Amino acid sequence: MSYQVLARKWRPQTFTDLVGQEHVSQTLKNAIDGGRVAHAFLFTGARGVGKTSSARILAKALNCEEGLSVEPCNHCSACLEITEGNSVDVFEIDGASNTGVDDIRELRDNIKYLPSRSRYKIFIIDEVHMLTTNAFNALLKTLEEPPAHVKFIFATTEPHKVPITILSRCQRFDFKRIALPRIVSRLRYIVDQEGVSVSDEALTIVARKGDGSMRDSLTTLDQVLAFCGEQVSDEEVTALLGVVDRRLILDAARAVFERDLRGVLELVARVDSFGYNMRQFCQELIDLFRAVAIIQAVGDAQGLLDLSEAELAELAGLAKTQNPGELQRHLTLLLKAEGEMGQASFPRLVLEMALMKMATLRPAVPVQELLQRIAALEGGAPPAARPAQLAAAERTAAAPRPQAPVAQAAPSGAAPRPAAAPAPQAPRPAPQAAPAGPPVGSGDLWGSLVRFIKGKKPMLGSLLEQVYPVRVTPQSLELGCLAGSYELMQVQDNAKQAELRALAGEHFGGNPTLKVVALDAVPSNAAPSLSEKKSLEDAERAATLRREAEEHPLVTAAVELFDGEIAEVTEIKTKP
Ligand SMILES: [Zn+2]
Repeated sequence: MSYQVLARKWRPQTFTDLVGQEHVSQTLKNAIDGGRVAHAFLFTGARGVGKTSSARILAKALNCEEGLSVEPCNHCSACLEITEGNSVDVFEIDGASNTGVDDIRELRDNIKYLPSRSRYKIFIIDEVHMLTTNAFNALLKTLEEPPAHVKFIFATTEPHKVPITILSRCQRFDFKRIALPRIVSRLRYIVDQEGVSVSDEALTIVARKGDGSMRDSLTTLDQVLAFCGEQVSDEEVTALLGVVDRRLILDAARAVFERDLRGVLELVARVDSFGYNMRQFCQELIDLFRAVAIIQAVGDAQGLLDLSEAELAELAGLAKTQNPGELQRHLTLLLKAEGEMGQASFPRLVLEMALMKMATLRPAVPVQELLQRIAALEGGAPPAARPAQLAAAERTAAAPRPQAPVAQAAPSGAAPRPAAAPAPQAPRPAPQAAPAGPPVGSGDLWGSLVRFIKGKKPMLGSLLEQVYPVRVTPQSLELGCLAGSYELMQVQDNAKQAELRALAGEHFGGNPTLKVVALDAVPSNAAPSLSEKKSLEDAERAATLRREAEEHPLVTAAVELFDGEIAEVTEIKTKP
């Protein structure tokens, strides 16, 4: 006896045999039991999920000699003839090869005659979406006023290509992809009947290859049985089907989670030595990480994932050890690698790099925390060592930067020093950090005076940097120092005052007056001393640099590319 392929041999003959389409059989049963059988049915769904089988079962249910019933007897001559495909009243038409209007005309002529032996004349048109427009129009006329003895059953994988005029005259049934465990249990039943020994794992691999289609799964099983005979080993199945051993994929994920670099690389080597396709391996890994992420998100993922119970349990274990953010990052890296592997000359290298990166991924810092850190850098950090000056820090931060409070009457010429603002190119020292002296605001009288003095009398200049400029104009200088401070003592020294006045006169022109006051506290209305200002500006500058670095398109791109974070921003001091 010639070999009959499993898909034909085990074609379901009753709705009970039909796996995974209970919603269809239930509706049909209700319709038949209630005597409300439509005259046209449309079965839609992916290939190999039971559309044509259902059409035949329905034909038998309608024509069975033992009476109209959703479960035909399968032993009367009408049933047997339909099973054999030689019933005179059931016509199976392949829409793909009989697309023309002539075929439909012939069908229409045929329809006029009563069924020769059965209750109904039944036309099963497979791949109905392949019909031409003219053929559809011809068919439509028949559908509009069908004789009572005619039933149509259309099947299609692409219902959107069927004209709406046809769709609206059919009772539509959407066939679902069949869940993996359902296919596995059907395969189990079949191999047991066939007397073949196959493990559940191997059947799962076969079913997965079928991707929701029973027919494809059975075809794959045929291939496996032809290769392995009656004793099927898991290794043979994976080798034959070119699928990656599930174990390897799980081990790879585990190695990544455990940050086991060596393990990761050894696994890739093993995958390579088995001759598996690297990209396929990567795709399967993506699938697995996706499953872990889903399990983690929803807990019970039954129905969401095409996995066997054992696999679900195993992945649930893995999901417990991971945090969601990290899983997302792993997935991102894998997806990126998968895309690159398509064009890469060394797909293995791409995969290795991706997995190594995953295995060394540093724990992600939540954005909220990053924001807090930045806020701390910008606000709290500046003169951390000298909390007394915080008030001053706030003032400077609030004031528009280049206009320091002292600069009420800037003489022309001193004002425009454009470089004083933080340089837009982040990692380069701004010009004001150059040897000339401490960075000061642009149109700043006091600052320019101190710089001038520092050039002539460095000691005096340094002293003045510690002094608060209470009120400074080209005609008069009012300076303050904290009472009892070393600076006050120094500035009150007559010789120094004379020197200062002379230099100020030289700088501003004229003969400015000088007054030194002792302050009880850091003045709230005076500008900070230059040294304070420098440290404030340094801190502010650090924050600005960091902000600029973070916003720089290259940096953003790098952070995204490596899925990294900015640890530190260092200013590069170019040596003169
Ligand atoms: Zn029958």
